[in-house]
Amino acid sequence: MTNPLHGALIGQQPAPALPFLIAADGAITSYADVDRASARLANALVAAGVAPGDRVAVQVEKSAAALALYLATLRAGAVFLPLNTAYTPDEIGYFFGDAEPALVVSDPARFEATRAAAGTAQVMTLGADGTTGSLIEAKDAQPDSHAPVARTADDLAAILYTSGTTGRSKGAMLSHRNLLSNARTLRDYWRVTAEDVLLHALPIFHTHGLFVATNTLMLAGAAMIFLPRFDAAQAIGLLPRATMMMGVPTFYTRLLDRADFTAEAAGNIRLFISGSAPLLAETHRAFERLTGHRILERYGMTETNMNTSNPHDGDRRAGTVGFPLPGVELRIMGEDGPLPDGEIGMIEVRGPNVFQGYWRMPEKTAEELRPDSWFITGDLGKRDPDGYVSIVGRGKDLVISGGFNVYPKEVELLIDELPGVLESAVIGVPHPNFGEAVVAVIARAPGADPDPHAIRAALEGRLAKFKQPKQVIVVDELPRNTMGKVQKSALRAEHAGLFA
Ligand code: ATP
Ligand code: MG
Repeated sequence: MTNPLHGALIGQQPAPALPFLIAADGAITSYADVDRASARLANALVAAGVAPGDRVAVQVEKSAAALALYLATLRAGAVFLPLNTAYTPDEIGYFFGDAEPALVVSDPARFEATRAAAGTAQVMTLGADGTTGSLIEAKDAQPDSHAPVARTADDLAAILYTSGTTGRSKGAMLSHRNLLSNARTLRDYWRVTAEDVLLHALPIFHTHGLFVATNTLMLAGAAMIFLPRFDAAQAIGLLPRATMMMGVPTFYTRLLDRADFTAEAAGNIRLFISGSAPLLAETHRAFERLTGHRILERYGMTETNMNTSNPHDGDRRAGTVGFPLPGVELRIMGEDGPLPDGEIGMIEVRGPNVFQGYWRMPEKTAEELRPDSWFITGDLGKRDPDGYVSIVGRGKDLVISGGFNVYPKEVELLIDELPGVLESAVIGVPHPNFGEAVVAVIARAPGADPDPHAIRAALEGRLAKFKQPKQVIVVDELPRNTMGKVQKSALRAEHAGLFA
């Protein structure tokens, strides 16, 4: 195969006339349409001076053309580098300086600011509608055939920056093999076929929407209802035309919040999948009560694609992320080596899905990627004797109070069940006596006004003293980044002076 990922995703589609993208209004783009668009775009990239191995940085709204640009970049042998559309011009300067793209594609509205941040890189534009901008003009002048540039399985296909939940985003270098092996595994594990239609409302600058969703569905020759963003009312209207949905946990809570979300609305779906952040067991149960569906939760990250998944056929267990995927090894590490089942430690994974290292960060790569290829995920977890893996939280969020480990999730699960609480985040805050003190930040349920004293009182006797929050803070909502992840580092910074 001359260009492994491009070939598998689109170059060798067995039935190119089949629908690939379906817009909200029902307009269909076939695989052949996208293939032709990507050929024109690849020619335009080459004409703009993009050479194999160059980075193409893309910060544009989600559209069929943006997806064709991903395929065009692969086709040209270049490295796709999508950027979160929420990043401001000040923020994207960091990525351009780090990745040194040959070409930056931005929204026309951001052209000037992007050009100012892009240094010597050329900047072209692509509008949110996917039909305007200088890249489209350049594309329209190009022929619709392009021979894919030869690549090996070890060549880079993408550099994807991590979400920046725990610190500055790092560029994860992903090879053709990394992406293709994981997409094949997921297609088979989740039984995705050309009959499937995925409701796709995730952003395509992140591993979830781009690789987990798009690569996997393309590999199966399936279709996607391709929506610019998640709107619960719209999703409810479109679900009857879909067979699968993938979402972050907030998609599911937002569906459950609506009276018009019913078992009937979910009736045509064969598989609901959740990931990117922990799905509360309560959400899992509420979803099943209403629809009869057990959401399939899986676990992965930018650096590795997906590592574990609940089963397609077996028991999808709430509060767990299921089993290591076929071909992925997983171990739970303590200070002195692998831990037995049931004990909490650092999750490490190894397999063809694990990335090539952090772009231009050899020290960081050496810290997290062992010489024998095990990747230290940064997530704490455990494995039950029957094989189910659970995530306990991030290593960086572990609280050490008076020398004892406090796993925030254990405390959060108890708090979340108390009346008036919507959700909670337990953090460690510097404390003169204990090193760190446990602090609970609680988002109030709509219309409720939970009393911090009552919350502390309710936890007494249910948790060891060192795990009990020394302070409870009630807020309207927890800070989240654009992927819906609670930003504990922001909470820690905000409350750092609490006991000073
Ligand atoms: P950064 O690495 O820059 O701090 P990030 O880790 O949030 O940001 P991503 O790669 O987008 O960036 O997210 C991967 C992380 O998301 C995992 O390490 C894990 O902590 C979390 N995650 C993903 N899926 C799940 C899940 N099903 N349950 C719990 N956590 C999950
Ligand atoms: Mg991370």
